[in-house]
This record gives sequence, C-alpha cells and structure tokens, in this order.
Amino acid sequence: VITILTGGTGGAKFVDGLRRVVPPEELTIIVNTGDDHEWWGLYVSPDVDSITYVLANMLSNERGWGVRGDTFHCLQAMKELGEPAWFSVGDRDLATHLLRTKLLAEGRTLSDATAHISQKLGVRSRILPMSDMRVDTHVDTPAGDLSFEEYFVKRRYQDPVKAVRFVGAAEAVPADGVLEAITSAQAVFLAPSNPVTSIGPILAVPGIREALKATSAPVVAISPIIGKAAVSGPAAGLMVAQGIEVSISGVAAAYSDFLDVLIADLADSALAESLASNRPQVHCTDILMRTAEDKARIARTVLTLALPEILAEPAAEAQ
Ligand code: GDP
Repeated sequence: VITILTGGTGGAKFVDGLRRVVPPEELTIIVNTGDDHEWWGLYVSPDVDSITYVLANMLSNERGWGVRGDTFHCLQAMKELGEPAWFSVGDRDLATHLLRTKLLAEGRTLSDATAHISQKLGVRSRILPMSDMRVDTHVDTPAGDLSFEEYFVKRRYQDPVKAVRFVGAAEAVPADGVLEAITSAQAVFLAPSNPVTSIGPILAVPGIREALKATSAPVVAISPIIGKAAVSGPAAGLMVAQGIEVSISGVAAAYSDFLDVLIADLADSALAESLASNRPQVHCTDILMRTAEDKARIARTVLTLALPEILAEPAAEAQ
C-alpha cells in the first residue's frame, strides 16, 4: 500500500497522476479536514470531496474543485432567496453534501460517510479523513479570526496573516486506519499541498507525526514551492506567518524530522545542491502539473525514487 497525505488542489493533481500509474486499490489517501465547514446547514469537506472526485474521474480540471460539467442552479436560487452565495456549490456536488450530512445525522462517522460516498462513486482507493473529530483551521488576520474558507474563498486570501491555529487538534485522534496506513505502508508521499493549512492540520493530530517518524517506509514529499513562491494559492503568506521560509529549504525544514526525500523543481537545482549534505535528500525534476502527462510523469518519478520495484511490471495506464 502507498499512503498519501494531502489537501485538495495540488494534492488532487498528484493523486490524479498516481491513479494513472498504479492500481487504485494500492492507494490509501489521508486527507486534511481542517477546511471542513457548514454551508446552508450541510457538512462540506472540500479536500475529501476533491480527492473523491479525482479518484472517481469526476473532478473539474478547469476549476480544480467540484464536479466536471456541473451546473449551479441551486446556488443561483439560494442567492435569489437572500442566502449567502460566496462558497460555490454545484448541483451535482450538492448531492454529496446532502448525503454526507444525512449519514452524519444518522450517527455515522466522517470516515464511514466518506467510504460510503466514495464506494457509490466507484472509487477503489481508500480515502481516510485525518480524524473523525472536528479540527478547524482558523486564520488570524487584522480583519479578525477567520475560518479557513472565509479567509480563502470569501475574502480571496487578501488579508495579511498574523497566525494560524488548528482548533480542536490537540484533543483529536486520528481516524481508524490512519496510523496503520502510515506505519504499514510501502511508501508514504506528501502531496505538493499547502504545508501550513493542508499538511499542517494533518500533522497537528496527535500521533500522526510520530507515525511518520516511526515508519520504515520511505517518506517522500513533492514541493508546493518553486523558487520563492507557491505554485498557486496562499501558501507563501501562511508559511511566513508560521515562521517557515518560503523556499524548498523551508519545506525541507518543516518536515525534517520525518522526511527522506524532497522532490523540488529544476529551477531550485542550485539551492538543492547546497542542501545536499542534509536530510532530506533533494531530487530535482519538473514539478509543474499542467497536463495528465505531467501528472503521470511526476507520479512515476516519485514511485521510482521510493519503490523502484513497483514500476518493474508495466501498469496499464488509466484514461
Ligand atoms: P488546498 O486544500 O486547496 O489548499 O490544496 P492543496 O494544499 O493540496 O494544494 C495547494 C498547493 O498546491 C499550493 O501550495 C500550490 O503551490 C501547490 N500546487 C498547485 N499546483 C501545483 C503543481 O502543479 N505543482 C506543484 N509542485 N505544486 C502545485
């Protein structure tokens, strides 16, 4: 089993590559739930949804979230009824939130609801929320203490960030299967996800960081940072607020207690060279994922580094 820790955007692109080069049954994906929030009374889990949709081959590549070809009639109708409409929910996507909310109201855990929905959508990989307990990412800004979705979607990550907190993390426990998925994996990959608000909440759940340190599997991360900037989104500002340098050195330092290999961009070759004597090892390649071919190529590179034997038998490339 290959275990991946991920958020929703960079993570979904990486998972899209992996599903094309390894049998999906071999993948267990541990997903950030710090962005989860209530919307129109429904329980929305944005990163779990992105990972579910990409593995079900339903993710909108243009938007990077939601269902490909979805319509937004309900969103429009809610707007006309005077309800908030800053968080876009497509009609097809809405069904996922309705079903999840129904299952949770029946007393099922988020893990159960995730397994049920992903199985109905034909997903053959295992998707595990990091915890079944609520962990809420809060972003402290001069405009006030914002939930992650208020900071990211409503206010388009324009506010300066003073601090980031994971409310509930200290009391949370990993969801069933999370620790075993790390300790018994053949390889563990950290997707090129936001180190602060996607990987950060996962690492804040007690026990997960220790499992990463303890596992005998190689732990490999793909950098979301190229040069001194994030490929997309607010990672840079959030890293500065958390005292993490915005560079591959910063990413390496944030994960230095458990990371074996960092995959960085060719643009960072010189810096990679200067880090060469330290752990993690740094391997440079083109890490921008624009096309399906890019994604599959990066997945193959990461697999070759972590598990040379797994690619020995040519996997049938999906879609
Ligand atoms: P979120 O949950 O939506 O924040 O998604 P993630 O945390 O999984 O992904 C956001 C991160 O993905 C950002 O920090 C980006 O820099 C990174 N990212 C997006 N596209 C790419 C890409 O093509 N290559 C790499 N290396 N990183 C990317």
